Amino acid sequence: MKKRLIGLTLQECEAFAEEIGDRKYRGRQLYKWIYAKRADSFAAMTDLPAALRDTLSEIAELGYLDVEDVDDRSTSDSVKYLFRLQDGRHIESVYIPDSSRKTLCISSQVGCGLNCQFCATAQLGLQRQLTAGEIIGQVLTSMRLRGHDLTNIVFMGMGEPFANYDEVIRAAQLLSDDNGLAIGARRIVLSTAGLVDKIIRYADEGHKFRLAISLNSPFQEQRGQLMPISRKWDVTALLEAVKYYAVKSHKVPTLEYVLLAGVNDSREHAAGLKKIVQSMPCKINLIPYNPTGALFSRPSAQHIETFIRWLLPLRAGLSVRWSKGDDAQAACGQLAGKKEERLL
Ligand code: SAH
Repeated sequence: MKKRLIGLTLQECEAFAEEIGDRKYRGRQLYKWIYAKRADSFAAMTDLPAALRDTLSEIAELGYLDVEDVDDRSTSDSVKYLFRLQDGRHIESVYIPDSSRKTLCISSQVGCGLNCQFCATAQLGLQRQLTAGEIIGQVLTSMRLRGHDLTNIVFMGMGEPFANYDEVIRAAQLLSDDNGLAIGARRIVLSTAGLVDKIIRYADEGHKFRLAISLNSPFQEQRGQLMPISRKWDVTALLEAVKYYAVKSHKVPTLEYVLLAGVNDSREHAAGLKKIVQSMPCKINLIPYNPTGALFSRPSAQHIETFIRWLLPLRAGLSVRWSKGDDAQAACGQLAGKKEERLL
């Protein structure tokens, strides 16, 4: 099998160049071609000697992903990509442009093992981890398809990023490298369902990417039902870890809160949420539920306004994510890799 280069660090590119009998600095050139100039073939790497380009074509490949479907049926401008991996499995990414940002929402695993009750990806179970190359492959492949730059990356597609910690961090570091894709660390968001050990590790390691935590209920009993991971790490332990992160990093984490009609949108929930938000540096992001099945529904716009009024006044920043792309099954929680479903 040919060696896939997308996903290699600068040092690994340099080591690879030496491995194949060339000079170390050729590895740096290769790295720039892959991530900064985004060459789509070895032939395009014009400052490499022809002989080296030939060798590379024989023994290596860049590692762009196979595109199985590009779905731009959404009435918003979002575009959903379905990629086929080398082992035939599928993952999805969603491109979400707005007036100031061009964001790609990417997957970190094939499926997910956490079984959150409101999320479509949960229905797939965990199929496997993605490599850093496959994670960055989503970014490079979608950029090439649309011929555009991306300003922001959110790890909010399929999977739990912190359950694939090493590859996700490696991918985020490559994405933010100034010599490569150069997407600023503050423009990369990792979103976790609340893996407390990894939140603490993340805080200790001092990463600069932004962190979002899916809270979804202020009450342990209910959160344990909606998000089984909360039976392992309860709300109290989670909030302690988030506070630890906020203090240690001097960064403001975002608490995400999916609004489920009649489930977590009462006055008591607003009061519980408010208490939490007032107790630590954080921002709150309300996400009106996007349909994934018959179990839940989205509160009316009017009720969402009421819920917000219950929360106010707040010291923390508050935003509502009116997910784009829900009409094309491309919104938060709706990614299930439709081909994957067929395989099951
Ligand atoms: N596993 C990670 C990232 C993926 S989900 C996490 O849990 O954070 C990204 C966000 O979408 C999370 O905040 C999650 O709670 C939310 N979400 C999941 N299903 C949803 C749905 N059906 N409608 C709206 N938001 C949903």
